[in-house]
Amino acid sequence: MSWDEISGHQPQIELLRGSIRRHRLSHTYLFVGTDGIGKRTFALQAAQCLLCKTHSENEFLACGHCPGCKQVLAGTHPDLFVVGCPEGKREIPIDTFLGPAERRGKSGLCYDLSHTPMAGGRKIAIIADAEKLNDESANALLKTLEEPPPHSLIILIATNTDSVLPTIRSRCQIIRFNALSTQLVTNLLLKNGSTSDHQAAAQAAGSCDGSLSQAVMLLDPELRAKRDRLFDLLAAGPFNSIAVTRYVMEGVEATGTEAPLQREQALWFFRFSIDFFRTAMREMIQPESRLIPQAAQFRQRIKNPTADHLTTLIQVIERVISGANHIEQNVAVNLVVESLFDEVGRILRTLPA
Ligand SMILES: [Zn+2]
Repeated sequence: MSWDEISGHQPQIELLRGSIRRHRLSHTYLFVGTDGIGKRTFALQAAQCLLCKTHSENEFLACGHCPGCKQVLAGTHPDLFVVGCPEGKREIPIDTFLGPAERRGKSGLCYDLSHTPMAGGRKIAIIADAEKLNDESANALLKTLEEPPPHSLIILIATNTDSVLPTIRSRCQIIRFNALSTQLVTNLLLKNGSTSDHQAAAQAAGSCDGSLSQAVMLLDPELRAKRDRLFDLLAAGPFNSIAVTRYVMEGVEATGTEAPLQREQALWFFRFSIDFFRTAMREMIQPESRLIPQAAQFRQRIKNPTADHLTTLIQVIERVISGANHIEQNVAVNLVVESLFDEVGRILRTLPA
């Protein structure tokens, strides 16, 4: 791993390098940005640079083959701690920071950080899923953040600043990471072997909100089949709210009875819907993208597109976005889906012929 393999985040590399050279590296950072754009990989690379035995800290580079680099890559460096929300759990438990109840305060991240670095240099902690710190965990961590041990560096990672408890957030220097451009995601998908089909890569990149991991998921044939069927239904004229709702709910229910999985599936359908109507809008302005053939069909039914058509599609997109927000706020999926597509149908019926 080297900085060359980190794409789209050059300003953030320079920001940290500059801080190190001015001896202004903060003890605590909060990396924020959409899921799947490489924040965690970036944090690991930063840690490797600081623990590399070949390069000085000022260079902010990692050689990749010294003992420090090798241990970071193998996940065995004694001065690097990577924690996050355990699989299947909703919160990061206090044990992560203070050790299990029977050994409270005698193990855990806060305990590990309080010791002198083993290999000299620094002790570095990467805390993924910082939005999943509960009050108890946050309080435990807060004590460490208030008086950071000398030579420690703590990097928290979250999708947005609002989701992190204010007490934690206020102790961190925030570094924002941008979503990746469509072109960059397309190139990365082709380069990393996710697909060799340029059209499929461009289509996934166009629908992934700048997240490489979402784009990779979008290359999954099953998910693509679901998306294509939804596009068929959205393109059909006249819009059939009942058919769309039934199809989406079947997909949601097929994931099982777990609410988080159902919500995730519903969000995919909403993302696809947004993508569909956005592409239809683009087709009206400049009919050439054709990445979604069904959106082109939808567009072709409109003889002379006007500003009114665009306004109507913007209303539809806004309605889907608000539906997605309701899903994220844990409103019952079936209620959201039903009222959303009912409303979309109502809006589309106002579309001038
Ligand atoms: Zn090295």
